Amino acid sequence: MLGPAILAASRSDKMRRIVSAAPVTKPVVNRFIPGETVDQVIPIVVDLTEKGLELTLDVVGEDITTVEQSYAARDAYLDLIAHLADLGLGEKAEMSVKLSMFGQALEGGHELALANVRPVVEAAAAIGTTVTLDAEDHTTLDSMFAIHEELRRDFPQTGCVIQAYLFRTEGDARRLAAAGSRVRIVKGAYKEPAEVAYQDKAEIDKAYVRILKTLMEGEGYPMIGSHDPRLIAIAQELARKAGRKLDEYEFQMLYGIRSEEHLRLAAEGHRMRVYTAYGTDWYGYFMRRLAEKPANLLFFLRSMITK
Ligand code: FAD
Repeated sequence: MLGPAILAASRSDKMRRIVSAAPVTKPVVNRFIPGETVDQVIPIVVDLTEKGLELTLDVVGEDITTVEQSYAARDAYLDLIAHLADLGLGEKAEMSVKLSMFGQALEGGHELALANVRPVVEAAAAIGTTVTLDAEDHTTLDSMFAIHEELRRDFPQTGCVIQAYLFRTEGDARRLAAAGSRVRIVKGAYKEPAEVAYQDKAEIDKAYVRILKTLMEGEGYPMIGSHDPRLIAIAQELARKAGRKLDEYEFQMLYGIRSEEHLRLAAEGHRMRVYTAYGTDWYGYFMRRLAEKPANLLFFLRSMITK
């Protein structure tokens, strides 16, 4: 029951001010968001790649309100890509992008987000890597899929995310399970109404499996975004049944969550990509991580009390 309340708080400016200013927040935040600057995150990229892991990097900062902020978001990604290029890490690290941060919700936002994300996709391609468009709340998805399709004309490796909790996703998965596409399937992290999304965990898991089956049996490249041991085992079984080799799909997990599992899957020969977020505007990302596991919230509150 706590999850929806935390997700509602993730949209509240008042809560944002309180949580962001609390002195004890930092160490708890660091578990999920290990740095605020590109210089702080690069050593983590190096460390994880040395352990045989790959990355997808997210510069946090959704809910922007000005066009200038959208340009700053674009420039932050371009700066990150320049750092990866200097270190020769292009092939090990891709980028995850939230179009809201590129201006999608502003006036004329669809065009603005496309104009901002295109140079990032181009720069990523120039160093041998790519970009995946994250899925945000359901009202943004038609625009996200249209931008994805547009980008794929010149950069077919551009990925996107689909969310198992949405009723629409089985149809999206059928459309996207085509040759050359890269699709990350996740359960979904936003507060969605019953008109558009399953509310029951078991229903979401069942939908996840149906969608995963479509992706595995299709011709694209499935990216399994989950920490759920049962779904990971099912994914391995579906991949085997579909005759996929180990390099024909990959697992993805979030930095700071089930890190031992990242290493176990990599040691088994799987491609394992760690979604690593960094930046100063971490509130929304952090609150979604609390909502996914209420025990995180208890840990957070306890650290506030014992300080
Ligand atoms: P769950 O049933 O939630 O968790 C399974 C187990 O994993 C839990 O029992 C627990 O042990 C562990 N676990 C899960 N979450 C946490 C946590 N926060 N803290 C501690 N332990 C935890 N959602 C979107 O809506 N759009 C996206 O673009 C998106 N991108 C993602 C990218 C990646 C690589 C991943 C892994 C997730 C992404 N998500 C995204 C989030 C996703 O929708 C889920 O909210 C999240 O992954 C939790 O679901 P789960 O599959 O891990 O299963």
